[in-house]
Amino acid sequence: MPNTEFKLLDKLREALAEADASSMRRHRKLTQSPCAPQVETAGRRVLAFASNDYLGLANHPQLVEAAADGARRWGVGAGASHLVSGHSAVHEALEDELARFVGCEAALVFSTGYMANIAVMPALLGRNDEVFADRLNHASLIDGALLSRAALSRYAHNDMEALADMLDASSAQNKLIVTDAVFSMDGDIAPLPRLLELAEQHDAWLLVDDAHGFGVLGPQGRGSLAAAGLRAERIILMGTLGKAAGVAGAFVAGSRTLIEWLLQRSRSYIFTTAMPPMMAHVLLNALALIENADDRRQHLRTLIACFRDGMASHAQRLMPSNTPIQPVVIGDNAATVDIAAALLERDIWTPAIRPPTVPKGSARLRISLSAAHSLAQVEQLTAALGEQLASLSTTQG
Ligand SMILES: *Cc1c(COP(=O)(O)O)cnc(C)c1O
Repeated sequence: MPNTEFKLLDKLREALAEADASSMRRHRKLTQSPCAPQVETAGRRVLAFASNDYLGLANHPQLVEAAADGARRWGVGAGASHLVSGHSAVHEALEDELARFVGCEAALVFSTGYMANIAVMPALLGRNDEVFADRLNHASLIDGALLSRAALSRYAHNDMEALADMLDASSAQNKLIVTDAVFSMDGDIAPLPRLLELAEQHDAWLLVDDAHGFGVLGPQGRGSLAAAGLRAERIILMGTLGKAAGVAGAFVAGSRTLIEWLLQRSRSYIFTTAMPPMMAHVLLNALALIENADDRRQHLRTLIACFRDGMASHAQRLMPSNTPIQPVVIGDNAATVDIAAALLERDIWTPAIRPPTVPKGSARLRISLSAAHSLAQVEQLTAALGEQLASLSTTQG
C-alpha cells in the first residue's frame, strides 16, 4: 500500500501537546451520578460547585416523574422539525406559558441556548447592519453575530460610554445591541436600563441573554428584565432551560411580530428536529416549580451571602457578583488548575476556567451555588478554599 503523507494529523498532535504544556488542555470529568451537590466521580463522592443547576431541579423527583409521564403520553421523539410535523400541542403550551411567565407576547422554543443564540441575529441582520456586543458575552452570541454577516463591534465590559460612542459613530442600517444579562464567568449583571435607553435613542434592537438570570432573579424567578422592571417591544429575551430550569432547551421571547419572523427565518429553528415533546412536558412542570420556588431562591441568597462572608479575607479575588456565580480569580493557568486539583483531593469540585473562556491572565475557579447546597456545605468550601489560597500566597511571596 502506498504510504501517503498526512501532515494534518501531526499538526493536531503537536497542537494538543502544546496545549498540555501550557495547562490549556481541557478534560472531561466523568460522573457516575446525577447532577446534585454530592457527585460520584473517579470512584469518590465529591462536593460539587460546578453546575448551573441553581434551583436544584435537575434531579427533582417531580420532574423525573414528569419525564416518565411525558414519555408515556408523547413517546420519546418529535420525529421531525417544527415546521414539518414535529410541533405538538405540548410545545405550543410551553411557548404560551413561557411568554406569560416572562411577560412577553410570544415565545419560540429551541433545543439549546446555543441554537437560540445563533438563530436571532442572522434572522434580523445582514451585511449592512451592525452588532454591538459586550466583550464578555457568551461565545454563542459571538457566533450568532458572525453568522449574521453584520459588522461586529465589541465594547469593553459594561462600558456604556464606549457603547454610546460606537452607536453615535455607526452608519449601519439596522443596529442590534447584545448582552449577557448575568455574565456567565463573572456573575455580575449588565446595566439593562441604560442599555434599553441607548437602544431607544438609536432605534436599535436589544438582545438580552438571560441564561443565568431566568429562574433565579426577579419576582418568582421571572428573570433579569423583570428584576429591573423593564419591558419594551425592542427587547428580545433569550432564556435557557438547562440551567435554573434543570432540564434542557431554550426560548426566545418578544413581540408577536418578532416571534413570527424568527419562525420564518431562523435556520437553527427550521432545519433541526424539534425538542422531544416529552421534554416540553417536563419543562412545563419545571416552570411551575420555578414560579413557586421563592423558598429556594431565598436559600440561594443566604448561601451567596455565606460564601462571600466566608471569603472576606480573600475579597480581592472575588468579583462584584450577587448571583450564584461566584468566581475566585487566580490569574495564572497552572496555579488555577493546581488549586482545583488540591481541592479535589479534599473531595471538593470547583471547575478551573481558563482562556479562551475568560480573558488571558484571569484564570479562575468558577464556583456556582445551588439551592440544593446546604449552609454547612458552603462553609466547608470556604474553609478549604481559604486554606488553599493562603498557601498560594505563601508560595508566591
Ligand atoms: C449556557 C449559556 C448559553 C447556551 O445555552 P445552552 O442551552 O447550554 O446551549 C447561552 N448563553 C449563556 C450566557 C450561557 O451561559
